[in-house]
Amino acid sequence: MTNKVLIINFEEIYLKGKNQKIFIKQLVRNLKRKLANYKNYLDFTKAHGGSYFIEIIEDIPENILQDIIDKVKNTPGITGFYVADTTGISMEEIAEKSVQHTRQYVDEFESFAVIAKRINKAVGFNSMDIGRRVGSDISEKLNKKVDLTKPDFKLYIKVRGKYTLIYSKIIPGIGGLPVGTSGKAIAMLSGGIDSPVSTFMAMNRGLHITAAHFHSVPKTSPQSIDKVKMLVKKLTDFQGQIKLYLIPVLDIQQAIAKHTDSRLRLILLRRIMLKIGKKIAEKEKAKALVTGDSLGQVASQTLENMKATEEATDMLVIRPLVALDKKHIIETAKKIGTFDVSILPHDDACGLFTPKSPETKAQLKYVKEQCNKLDIEDLVNGTLQKAETVIISDTDKMPEYIL
Ligand code: ATP
Ligand code: MG
Repeated sequence: MTNKVLIINFEEIYLKGKNQKIFIKQLVRNLKRKLANYKNYLDFTKAHGGSYFIEIIEDIPENILQDIIDKVKNTPGITGFYVADTTGISMEEIAEKSVQHTRQYVDEFESFAVIAKRINKAVGFNSMDIGRRVGSDISEKLNKKVDLTKPDFKLYIKVRGKYTLIYSKIIPGIGGLPVGTSGKAIAMLSGGIDSPVSTFMAMNRGLHITAAHFHSVPKTSPQSIDKVKMLVKKLTDFQGQIKLYLIPVLDIQQAIAKHTDSRLRLILLRRIMLKIGKKIAEKEKAKALVTGDSLGQVASQTLENMKATEEATDMLVIRPLVALDKKHIIETAKKIGTFDVSILPHDDACGLFTPKSPETKAQLKYVKEQCNKLDIEDLVNGTLQKAETVIISDTDKMPEYIL
């Protein structure tokens, strides 16, 4: 017996006209993957009038229902959803369930309206009859007043073929587009605050992400890698499974330190990171790189430096944070749950490598001259051979971070 139904709304997808089918298909695929552990409880049904239904077909423990709700909330492409109660199609059942449903919110409103729709024409009463009966029961039993023009609380009732849906409060989703509908990208993920946010934003525009992290183990502690794994794990809330490349860059840093102008160290390292990113993109069939650069956030994040870095690759480099201020980035990091992990102490690959006075306005010609002092092909290919990959899934246990 169906006892609850999630009614999922997706305005943005809905607006997509002929692409709509593809988008919904991808969204459902993503949802099925995320909810795979609970598949015995669930029945995915087709969209009805701009909404998609997930029926809960078995009695379900409260904690599992909550977990399902959390997973749906975090699925890109969903603007909001209702958790509808269900009951039979007789007037008695509808009235009883409506009062029971509304009772949960009794402290939150004074006036209400019943918005009823009878899709099943065989029931022997019409939408107005439902409105009248349920309206008077709620007024009487819960001591509230009907207000059809400006109600504090709206109760929706839909009498369908075999059951009636009763629902009221919309739970906001994160919106955006279903992961995978915009193609694939490689997200450059440090252990900082910014890149997990830029990775999330890319996912939320429909990009399927593979993450790449550059580390200097053993010069930096192995915990710096655990931290990145924890960040990736948080991001699996939005994209069920993420492949993470772990790329050791100590050899590259040593070569740069030995042969080039120390003021350009970071720019040269970043250039090589982008080149490695491109190779990974080719392997993963990705069409862009995503970074957490934000203009002017630190002295070195200037247009000149971004240009001198980006010039190293012909790949599209997406910078979702470029025009966001730090406050906004931190708010998002808190919202998506990465902030607390990002602020754990760690030593990162670039931190230990930062020169005393980094270049803030790199001249491309000079950068290229310095690049010529390195055997970049060799460094890129040698490093790639040492890269490892892990696949992190939303159902995995969190890696431990030991201080
Ligand atoms: P974040 O908070 O993401 O570390 P940031 O403000 O500290 O960003 P930078 O350290 O200058 O800025 O790095 C800019 C971007 O370069 C990062 O957002 C990230 O996309 C990429 N990046 C930097 N270091 C690494 C790394 N070790 N591994 C992967 N990507 C990195
Ligand atoms: Mg950083």
